[in-house]
Amino acid sequence: MYPAKKENQRNKPNGKPGKFSWIFYFLLVNLIIFFFIGKNQTFEEITWPVFENEMLLKHDVEKIDIVNKETVEVYIKKDSLAKTRYKSVAKVFKNYANTGPHYFFRIGSLEVFEQKLDKAQINLADNEKVAVSYTNRQNWWAGILSWIFPIGLMLLFFFYLRRASMGGPGGSSIFDFGKSRDAEYSKGKISPVTFKDVAGYDEAKTEVMEIVEFLKNPGNFTKLGAKIPKGVLLVGPPGSGKTLMAKAVAGEAAVPFFSLSGSEFIEIFVGVGASRVRDLFNKAKEKAPSIIFIDEIDTIGRVRGRAMSAQANDERDSTLNQLLTEMDGFDPNTGVIVMAATNRADILDPALLRAGRFDRHIYLELPNKNEREEIFKVHLKPLLLDKSVESELLAGQTPGFSGADIANVCNEAALIAARNKKAAVDKQDFFDAIDRIVAGLEKKSKIITPSEKKIIAYHEAGHAIVSWMLKNVDPLVKVSIIPRGKSLGSAWYLPEEHQIITLAQFSDQLCTALGGRVAEEIVFNEPSSGALDDLEKVTKQAYMMVANLGLSSEIGNISYYDSTGAYEAAFNKPYSEATGQLIDQAVRKLIETAHKRTEDILLQHRTGLDNLARLLLDKEIVYKEDLEQILGKRV
Ligand code: ADP
Ligand code: ZN
Repeated sequence: MYPAKKENQRNKPNGKPGKFSWIFYFLLVNLIIFFFIGKNQTFEEITWPVFENEMLLKHDVEKIDIVNKETVEVYIKKDSLAKTRYKSVAKVFKNYANTGPHYFFRIGSLEVFEQKLDKAQINLADNEKVAVSYTNRQNWWAGILSWIFPIGLMLLFFFYLRRASMGGPGGSSIFDFGKSRDAEYSKGKISPVTFKDVAGYDEAKTEVMEIVEFLKNPGNFTKLGAKIPKGVLLVGPPGSGKTLMAKAVAGEAAVPFFSLSGSEFIEIFVGVGASRVRDLFNKAKEKAPSIIFIDEIDTIGRVRGRAMSAQANDERDSTLNQLLTEMDGFDPNTGVIVMAATNRADILDPALLRAGRFDRHIYLELPNKNEREEIFKVHLKPLLLDKSVESELLAGQTPGFSGADIANVCNEAALIAARNKKAAVDKQDFFDAIDRIVAGLEKKSKIITPSEKKIIAYHEAGHAIVSWMLKNVDPLVKVSIIPRGKSLGSAWYLPEEHQIITLAQFSDQLCTALGGRVAEEIVFNEPSSGALDDLEKVTKQAYMMVANLGLSSEIGNISYYDSTGAYEAAFNKPYSEATGQLIDQAVRKLIETAHKRTEDILLQHRTGLDNLARLLLDKEIVYKEDLEQILGKRV
């Protein structure tokens, strides 16, 4: 059905200079000829009086030729050439007689010239008059050069681009932009990654294990009449190891791995996407059994009609259609399995998810604590570690981290240790790395006035005290007023992982977030701009509770959440104006109630607030143990 296309393979002599040197030589030869011809002519310019008095009236002129009505070329009689007057033009190359023209001069207007000529010869008999001929001559060398120069320049420019674009490893060229890129793996390398490089994800691994079996022993399945799945969709947030998993499947089965990212399909040139898809599938089929991995499939597989520009939409549609055609086109038992990754399966075009296409879905969520520990173990292995480092502790400190974040922490910790010239990477390096990744780089140079510092200290102390007093908030680890990234201070909590959040937990979270602002109000009698992030969080959360989660009495058990995103895209609200007002009121009430509660807590613990703020101003960083001293053990 799809014969392997051998001619499809590229076989280019990678940008050797021989490629364009012929153009260069061609131009050079032309230039030489051009100058040579110009120089070669023993051809002197004269003026009308010289011509009239010294040549014409002396009967030395054989004939004249008027070229293009602007130049008069003068031919001197053979016998007259012997005269000393004509010595300079008599010979070409010293030995050969010059057959002419020997002289030329320019004329302004042909008519004036003809009149002058008639007048000059008025006394001569007709047979003594000089012969006049008219020629239209084109300077074809100039003509050709005027063509060759721009073309040559363009060619040189193209070759320049071509060479420039080949700078990267195995880079591509603009001459075959229709072909899929020779990215790291699109050549169909056998991936060295196997399941042992993928920590955790035991469930997902069992699921993909089946695919490995398909690829290794397709016979076991086909002999029973089973069809091998064609498409597997890996769904998970960025950095959750989707690419890693796909590579591991290919590596376990020891089959070639072809990969391309969705955004690479849709690029500068219109119509390139579809041809890239075709090319990718052709390559993969040639080397079957193999795996095609399409990263960010949502960039091409989004529900149609939601893009902003019509042109981008067309391009996406044609790419998507080509992908669907290719997937339907090959026999399931060819042994090509397409794996695609996305972080949003819900926005994909349903056509992609139909049976026979991406009908298998594997979810890779962010790792939980145990899985994080496993991932840490994988990435700690290559490091030279101090005894103080325990993967369990690190896993506990990194809730919400993706696999990629963890890999990043390990690398960052090693860098910090190296910078401090340590013999091994120790616990503190990891904590610093985690802080750095959580909150951006520590900015010690940021200048903060003492009064600002006081506000920040009370603000953070407010958060800390409220969280300490509410039992539904994650336990506090430390509070700091050292600016990091764009935040001036921060409180670290040790989140417990919840799958379900109760109303009480939500309310306590609102209070904790408001703690900073309320502390400022109580202590300084005026709020500051420092609560922007907190208020944003509070507002979003309150709207979420009222409009989506059915957690308010005003709206009741109604959710305006739209998982398809259609309303959002159309700038529509799924509720009436009146309901909108009701939602706003409910949100206000929710936040006001939380504000009151927060105020009560802080007023009740005013001494604690002052003590903590003072300690913060003094030490800049305060740990759980210090809080226990100030406030007593947390209930
Ligand atoms: P995605 O494709 O989901 O964005 P990647 O597969 O590119 O994520 O993951 C990025 C990196 O994160 C990997 O190269 C690997 O170093 C690390 N990583 C992610 N998940 C894991 C895991 N489960 N085990 C080990 N390393 C992981
Ligand atoms: Zn705050």
